[in-house]
Amino acid sequence: MAGIISGRVQSLAESASLKMSQICAQLRAEGHDVISLTLGEPDAAPPKEIIPAIERALTEYTYSHYGPVAGMLSLRKEICKKLKSENGLDYTPDQIMVTVGAKPAITDVILSLIDPDDEVVIPTPCWVSYGEMVKLAEGKNVFVRTTAETNYKMTAEQLRGALTERTKLLMLCSPNNPTGSIYSREELAQIAAVLADYPNVFVISDEIYEHINYTGMPCSLAAFPEVTDRVVIINGVSKAYAMTGYRIGWLASHCTELVKACVKLQGQSVTHATMIAQLAAETAYKESSAYVEELREGFAERKKVVMELLGEIPNIKVVEPAGAFYAFPDVSAYYGKSYEGRTVNNSAEMTDYLLEVGHVACVAGSAFGEDKCIRLSFATDIPSIKEALKRIKEALEKLQ
Ligand code: PLP
Repeated sequence: MAGIISGRVQSLAESASLKMSQICAQLRAEGHDVISLTLGEPDAAPPKEIIPAIERALTEYTYSHYGPVAGMLSLRKEICKKLKSENGLDYTPDQIMVTVGAKPAITDVILSLIDPDDEVVIPTPCWVSYGEMVKLAEGKNVFVRTTAETNYKMTAEQLRGALTERTKLLMLCSPNNPTGSIYSREELAQIAAVLADYPNVFVISDEIYEHINYTGMPCSLAAFPEVTDRVVIINGVSKAYAMTGYRIGWLASHCTELVKACVKLQGQSVTHATMIAQLAAETAYKESSAYVEELREGFAERKKVVMELLGEIPNIKVVEPAGAFYAFPDVSAYYGKSYEGRTVNNSAEMTDYLLEVGHVACVAGSAFGEDKCIRLSFATDIPSIKEALKRIKEALEKLQ
């Protein structure tokens, strides 16, 4: 008898970061003193401005019933305002679709664009889910490896080398998870110039970490006229407003045919994002810009501490993150070394070792396509960061 579970779902990898957070939670529940540097979300409470809006939504008929599949018009208008005022980009509400977090926005675009064997170019290191989503659509992942030499950014030449007549989509994530790199305006201009020669290639520009930046507001690839109609911006309130649990993300695209396809897909799968959460997101966009700035400043301070302490650990190399809340140090100088008969040969063995010997949880770089590195989230308080890095240093020093 054939297996119960479809080949499609069997072939998907589990999310490595979620798995590590779960192991960590379990160890803590068993009474172990484990510090988690696995978190993919701000540790802050969401902005207080959203609370009265949620209270109001609880008593108003509109928010307990079905709404538009594409999302509430008032929220989509607010997103258009945000795109204009923060990014200088013009969109209309029919070019926006609100989704249940940014993740399904990406999945919907991939499922709407990709036919079997269509190629999707993904620079690595990259977020764990991109390649799996492409697999779900039976597309072909074309990974382009970037290194510390280019601050983990794909060059225009690398992009040109990866594009073929079968390429349908490019996935760009800036600020990047896991490396924290941000493409500059000049680098994006070069990428746009290459894409001008490939008019059938769409781009997902994942800007979910846009507001967590340390070098100024990042530029969007959508700002370049040669590609603006083919760029789908992905964003949401998860990271900037610490509203991960509200599950509100969105996509913006000038290609209304694509937006309509995504709306059709959402209409046949999830219907729409929760109305109360949509009102909360709308309120956050309207009223909580000071909150975002405070959150950003807090992360900037933590990043400074992480960089200082990583600098004190011998034989590791790290590119300073320009955005997001992750450091992605290269720990490969410790591969092949042992402690008490146990040898560490790769990033998964390194994260297991750091968990068992150092009682610090982090995520193996292999999950993001770079086995030399491990990902450390600094979305946690400074005393925990200091203690975790002390433990990592001591555990690494034991490896001989
Ligand atoms: N894109 C990237 C690069 C992410 O790191 C994440 C979450 O970790 C997402 C998208 C998904 O965000 P959301 O929680 O809004 O679905």
